[in-house]
Amino acid sequence: MKKIKIILSVLILSLFIGLCGCSTDNGDENSTKLKIVTTIFPPYDFARQIGGDKAEITMLVTPGGESHAYEPTPQDITAVKNCDIFICSGGESDVWTGKILSAIGSEDIDVISMMDCVETVEEEHSEGMTEGVSVHGEETEYDEHVWTSIRNAEIISDVICRKMAEDDSENAEIYRKNADEYIKRLNELDKDYEKAVEKAKNKVLVFGDRFPFRYLCRDYGLEYYAAFPGCSTSTDVSAVTVSFLINKVRELSIPAVYYVEFSAGKVAEVISEETGAQALLFHSCHTVSKEDFENGVTYEQLMRGNLEVLERGLGVETN
Ligand SMILES: [Zn+2]
Repeated sequence: MKKIKIILSVLILSLFIGLCGCSTDNGDENSTKLKIVTTIFPPYDFARQIGGDKAEITMLVTPGGESHAYEPTPQDITAVKNCDIFICSGGESDVWTGKILSAIGSEDIDVISMMDCVETVEEEHSEGMTEGVSVHGEETEYDEHVWTSIRNAEIISDVICRKMAEDDSENAEIYRKNADEYIKRLNELDKDYEKAVEKAKNKVLVFGDRFPFRYLCRDYGLEYYAAFPGCSTSTDVSAVTVSFLINKVRELSIPAVYYVEFSAGKVAEVISEETGAQALLFHSCHTVSKEDFENGVTYEQLMRGNLEVLERGLGVETN
């Protein structure tokens, strides 16, 4: 059903492109700045850190929007059609982007798929999870949340920088300098995560929510238990899952249990009430709230915030 919906909306949009010739009010068409369009927040921010005021960067999924059930608007298609570089995750949530790119004829657009930049792992169904329905269907999938690894963020930022420098050689030196500084800061953040994990009393995270953090856990050798897999839209958790997670928290004396942004956090709350563990937000960075977006929140800030809540969950003494 979802596939039919996507095909239909792409058909309608192709028709729209054909009919209107696409004059746009999305961005300044006459601007000579490098135009970059991204689907979700992380690559938007990477490009922004590298491009500064030299590039015009647009994010398609509106702040606070659900990136897994995204429906592109005609304005989005126009923005993609007029851009120089288009950056997507490359995962199942982004299937619509391939259809749009072939519908508009994307020979002049450089497409960066974040999943192609790094080593990927399969989406995992760990012990105790409620399976539910994945938004992406039944097949085995590679986990698309590659940006939850700071090391991956460094690699992806470097790829973006090289592509920007290639397309806009006049500002190449500026892009390189910005990217080097940015990657250095990300590297420091990665080291701070390493230090935190070294001091950890336990190395197990418990998520009373969906779990898009496989890459982050891989980087630091962390284990996890979660209510649902990576991109599950399920909200009906099974009683078996809840009692499994409660037992894990008790058995391992885990001090904090997590939920993700834009979630009601119900499962984490129940576990928290039963065990006394604190329920804390772990931000997956898929997208940010309208307010955070307007305040210019960055990936680096969100991941710094995650480090603090990680330390609480790992029982790391901070003072
Ligand atoms: Zn996701």
